[in-house]
Amino acid sequence: MTKKELALEIIERLKQEYPMAECTLDYDQAWKLLVSVRLAAQCTDARVNVVVQDLYAKFPDVESLAAADPAEIEEIVKPCGLGHSKARDISACMRVLRDEYGGRVPDDFEKLLKLPGVGRKSANLIMGDVFGKPAIVTDTHCIRLSNRMGLVDGTKDPKKVEMALWAIIPPEEGSDFCHRLVMHGRDVCTARTKPYCEKCVLQDICPKIGVPQHGTDA
Ligand code: SF4
Repeated sequence: MTKKELALEIIERLKQEYPMAECTLDYDQAWKLLVSVRLAAQCTDARVNVVVQDLYAKFPDVESLAAADPAEIEEIVKPCGLGHSKARDISACMRVLRDEYGGRVPDDFEKLLKLPGVGRKSANLIMGDVFGKPAIVTDTHCIRLSNRMGLVDGTKDPKKVEMALWAIIPPEEGSDFCHRLVMHGRDVCTARTKPYCEKCVLQDICPKIGVPQHGTDA
């Protein structure tokens, strides 16, 4: 089976397993997803979803958040960790949205990449989830699973993983596929040394690269 054939089979099986492919960060406006994805670094989505409620209660729109003192933002977002740098980036990002984009989030990958605190992973997430465009979101689950499944060849570099997946994943499938990798990574192909291969819908086609087939769990 070629990598492309393997990828297509995995896509189909994960669709059956996880019919709903959704972002687990709550948002109802594009700028809020930008805020949440910055807060989600080294933090759980569940915690981010709680913390942003306090943030938006005080700063309900781009203008108010852009005008806020970063120290006030930090005070609210510090339960997510890295409060100082996250508050600084969110403040700077909202000011760019206000000053250069009329308060709107640009639907252009390169423009998104230039926003403070926004890297390729976040820009892809916005392109896919907000604008419905092709996207490959290389978060920790995507990188771990792509390696174990043999879709990429032993690289942990997010950009290299992204480029390798672009070459084998149909563009229109990318965004949902990555959401399903997150779900599968949390439920079955977990970060522990020995994931739950015995109950995995991919076990007969997955090469399980780097996964010990015998021995004790980590
Ligand atoms: S078979 Fe094992 S290594 Fe492969 S995707 Fe499933 S849980 Fe992960």
